[in-house]
Amino acid sequence: MKETKRRRSRVKASIAAALFVLAAVLIARTLGPGRTSPRVSALAGLEIDREKAAARLAEYIRIDTSTPPGIPRDGTPAYLTLLIDRYATPLGLEHQIVDGRSLLLRWRAPPSGERPLVLLSHADVVPVADEERPLWHHAPFAGEIADGFVWGRGALDNKGSTICALEAIAALKRAQIAPRRDILLLVVPDEEIGGNEGAALFVRDHLALLEQPIALIDEGSFVIPDQIPGKNLVAVAVAEKQYVTIRVTVDGEAGHSSMPTPANAPAALTRALARLMAFELPTQRPLPVERLFDRISDHSSFGQRLLLRNRWLFGPLIERMLSRGAAGNAMLRSTHALTVLRAGIKDNVVPAHAEALVNFRLLPGDSRDQVLAEVRRVMDEPAVKIEVINAEEDTPITASDGPLWDGLEAVLATAIPDAVVAPIVSPGTMDARRFARAGIPAYRLVPFTADAGERQRVHGVDERVSLDNLEQAIRVYAHLMRYL
Ligand SMILES: [Zn+2]
Repeated sequence: MKETKRRRSRVKASIAAALFVLAAVLIARTLGPGRTSPRVSALAGLEIDREKAAARLAEYIRIDTSTPPGIPRDGTPAYLTLLIDRYATPLGLEHQIVDGRSLLLRWRAPPSGERPLVLLSHADVVPVADEERPLWHHAPFAGEIADGFVWGRGALDNKGSTICALEAIAALKRAQIAPRRDILLLVVPDEEIGGNEGAALFVRDHLALLEQPIALIDEGSFVIPDQIPGKNLVAVAVAEKQYVTIRVTVDGEAGHSSMPTPANAPAALTRALARLMAFELPTQRPLPVERLFDRISDHSSFGQRLLLRNRWLFGPLIERMLSRGAAGNAMLRSTHALTVLRAGIKDNVVPAHAEALVNFRLLPGDSRDQVLAEVRRVMDEPAVKIEVINAEEDTPITASDGPLWDGLEAVLATAIPDAVVAPIVSPGTMDARRFARAGIPAYRLVPFTADAGERQRVHGVDERVSLDNLEQAIRVYAHLMRYL
């Protein structure tokens, strides 16, 4: 009797001790110091002409470069003439037109043997639908400057960054500050329709012109002010998801809808799709996401930090909470969406054929074949045929540690106020992927600060960029050119 009591109290004591150790570990990790970003010395003599930048951007927006229909192949496109006449010639930049519609500009650094830095942007914009035009407060291709903003299609995506990079060169030249390495600006014509003729041909035929650059900076993310209270999350996309579309088809028997048979194609297809839509691929935490959590935890409340800094214990809980939102879900798992459904022509005819398109966005490193095997298993419908109709290769993740990342972080932390610099995985695809696959470290960031409302204007109504943002981006690019 006494023996059991003693044993019980010993068990209680060891549980209490274990809990105490656990609490001590959790709290020690929670209270540990965070990362302090490295810095560069700010370029004090830089005079940024934001009014001129705004006027030039407005001019660039007035050249309608919507794709589709796309930029004509004959003659020199108007946007190339604009960039050459307004910038390349007066600034004395070497320039060449590549494949008729891409532009490569080079600002030579004093000889140093350093590899060049590439800034990539695209000249085309998504079209504005006729029914959306009346909703714009300033016509999308009028290039108006009002209320501290430049308004128009392309202001954020992606004409703004081209102009800001060129204005950064102008500002550095005025201040007689030389770049650390050759600066290459590459402007391509067709990113919004997949980049098959711009970036793809460039990578295939002209990659040597970039002379094995140290890094490439493209669009793909913004500075996010509404994520960490009092801070600007400088979210640098170092990876992007893999784009795969499959066609799912069922061929059955056509017939009269008054006497349906079990071999009903639309019925079999929708059964399979219902199972697929109810299914989710497992959550994961790719390396950039782990680093993002680390950076966010440095600036979180005690409770959030407790969770974020003890992911060895709370990881599944964090994943469950974050994956409830669309953005968190896209960050933590490979996703799939049903995008097209086709079957039937008349309400009393059972069609022989039914098909659907399902678009997958796979996390870096996920195997397409394994995912498709899983899809087949989940659908569990023998009549279903699956065929891959559009697939991109996996894109390597750019390192978010080491000297190059530290250099980038130092520049961003210096040139952007209250910056918390962190890597992310972009859920979208952009031209940078082609260069990343060719082995070039690719970072995706346009250094405009844009909250959720502003970001919605990308491809939306009333796209605009503030003059404050133009100034910030010029400052960032100038520091990148000088220091990275
Ligand atoms: Zn874009």
